[in-house]
Amino acid sequence: AILGAGESGVGAAILAKKLGYEIWVSDSGTIKENFKEELEKHQISFEENKHTKQKIFEASEVIKSPGIPDHIDLIKELNQKGIPVISEIEFAARHTNATIVAITGSNGKTTTTNLSYHLLKTGGLNVGIAGNVGFSFARQVASASYDYYVLELSSFQLDGIRAFKPDVAILLNITPDHLDRYDYKMENYVASKFRIIKNQNENDFFIFNGNDGNMKEFLKHQSLKMKKSAVKKVFFKEGKLKVDDNHSFDMSDCSLKGKHNMFNATCAIRVALHLGIDDVKIQEGLSTFVNDPHRLESVAMIDGIEYINDSKATNVDAAFYALDAMEKGVIWIAGGTDKGNDYEPLMPLVKEKVNAIICLGLDNSKIIEAFSSVIKILEETSSAKEAVEVATSYAEEGEVVLLSPACASFDLFKNYMDRGDQFKKEVHELKNKGKVEPE
Ligand code: ADP
Repeated sequence: AILGAGESGVGAAILAKKLGYEIWVSDSGTIKENFKEELEKHQISFEENKHTKQKIFEASEVIKSPGIPDHIDLIKELNQKGIPVISEIEFAARHTNATIVAITGSNGKTTTTNLSYHLLKTGGLNVGIAGNVGFSFARQVASASYDYYVLELSSFQLDGIRAFKPDVAILLNITPDHLDRYDYKMENYVASKFRIIKNQNENDFFIFNGNDGNMKEFLKHQSLKMKKSAVKKVFFKEGKLKVDDNHSFDMSDCSLKGKHNMFNATCAIRVALHLGIDDVKIQEGLSTFVNDPHRLESVAMIDGIEYINDSKATNVDAAFYALDAMEKGVIWIAGGTDKGNDYEPLMPLVKEKVNAIICLGLDNSKIIEAFSSVIKILEETSSAKEAVEVATSYAEEGEVVLLSPACASFDLFKNYMDRGDQFKKEVHELKNKGKVEPE
């Protein structure tokens, strides 16, 4: 039985069908039209808007979408009955011999996954990218034949693994996130992230953040068998990134900016070096890399004011690194659905760089309370249009308008992409307006 008919569930269904399993898909919500069409095309039976438990309990194994929490009754009952519940990642990994690079962390997964993939591809490897980005791992195992995969894995996907063993694992950082799924216990979330190495052996490779307090604490109590590479410090000076004693790269042409991205790049380059890519190809990959939108994405320069979209900064840590990366005075657009944020870590950067805060959320009280003593200009707005207009009214030539909300987007937007797209649309309209010649 496959629970959830999104990209991962449908991918798992297609792979299972191809392998000759008797399968059935069940989704408690409405299945999107395109996924329904695919299931029908592959002659896979399904139900939607309900879970028929009796039928699910007949399964010998259940593949669960990462969006379904472990604490719901259905999953508890499956556990009680001893029916294994696994993730699509676990299932897909059983059916490929490819070398797997798996990447997790609280922030920076997508960037590091995209960059690792790009470096390996530029280096000539036959490599696919999957997990949280693009098409699901299972779908690609069913339809492609890559020698390497770079996988972006969330803690939810890692919760459903059993024998999954990446050849290379990267753990970027662990800061509080998604604690509602982990009984509000940080140690549970940390343990979930570390599942990425649970099956690694002495032939495997683990790249991790040697400077992360939560990780250091966890590692104190472990004896690790695999080869390790700790990134303790980022060596970035005058546009050059030193990855180890023998390898340095010129980052002046690379679109990634900020200390956090130099850390991500260090990890991705270590993967590439480990897998035998030469320096020339790595340099070429760094210079041609284009990241996904909504991550410190430079949108436009209008009248000397730069507009940057970092809508993917849905937690305080990500906003910290965005502010840290800014080299000019900042008009900061922040706010949205607060996830129990503590804004204190941002205080030094806000004092140093931020000239105005434009709140973009339904309830901005926590942000106002946190910063009103240090920031004179604090305005509340409730749409991207209003936020861009108000921010622009305060911005001066040479400054930057930065959307880096530190909050989720669901109060005013469909998701972070919708928030970022609306911001970009308003910025572009501003730009077009500026170009209209007066009649
Ligand atoms: P994820 O996939 O883990 O959410 P992304 O690469 O999509 O990570 O980046 C999410 C947000 O976190 C962006 O705002 C980005 O600028 C920020 N970010 C990226 N890398 C890091 C890092 N190493 N540490 C902290 N924040 C980061």
